[in-house]
Amino acid sequence: MSGRPLQLRFVSSATRTHQLPETAAEVAFVGRSNVGKSSLINALANQKQLARVSNTPGRTQLINVFTVVDGGGTLVDLPGYGYAKVPGHIRKDWGPMIEGYLLEREGLETVFVLVDGAIGPTPLDVQMLDWLADNEVPHTVVATKMDKVKSSKKRTRKRELAEGCRLEVGDIVWVSSAKGINIDQLRDLVRSHLS
Ligand code: GDP
Repeated sequence: MSGRPLQLRFVSSATRTHQLPETAAEVAFVGRSNVGKSSLINALANQKQLARVSNTPGRTQLINVFTVVDGGGTLVDLPGYGYAKVPGHIRKDWGPMIEGYLLEREGLETVFVLVDGAIGPTPLDVQMLDWLADNEVPHTVVATKMDKVKSSKKRTRKRELAEGCRLEVGDIVWVSSAKGINIDQLRDLVRSHLS
């Protein structure tokens, strides 16, 4: 049902896929640090502090699993990529951890790849999208911070962002956590993958 928040309950964190609880169906959220991932997960759940909105991007370095209490399935918050100030050893661990998860996770239905609507896609975003396509991991691009794009620029920005991702305009879900735009639509999409 549209409008109903996703009831999320934190289950566990891990650095390796085999440490995660089994699931029948799962969706994962991934994106560059500071793209607005925590804000979006909080908006989907209509809870302020569920996924930490961090002032220090790149600090949450674990795979975080949430149960979708109403409806079943799980939602995963993957660590953000591409934050330059993350210490080298953490950056080095990121690749194997995320790649392992994306390739090995049983029950993973789709990956929501967040791209900053005001600035993206960055070269790292494009790399991530290419990697997912090459490895046949199902995914959907979500453009965040739609409220930051001026009305007069929206059409152009939508076209540019889609072209940058090598997708059609209609393939991309545009959202704003700050203004609550298309959050219902994204909830429906999440639920459709979990049921
Ligand atoms: P994360 O690092 O991907 O989890 O990103 P956060 O959710 O911590 O957000 C990073 C920054 O972007 C914060 O300053 C947020 O307030 C801001 N932000 C997140 N979503 C939106 C949005 O929809 N609109 C605007 N204008 N800012 C946003």
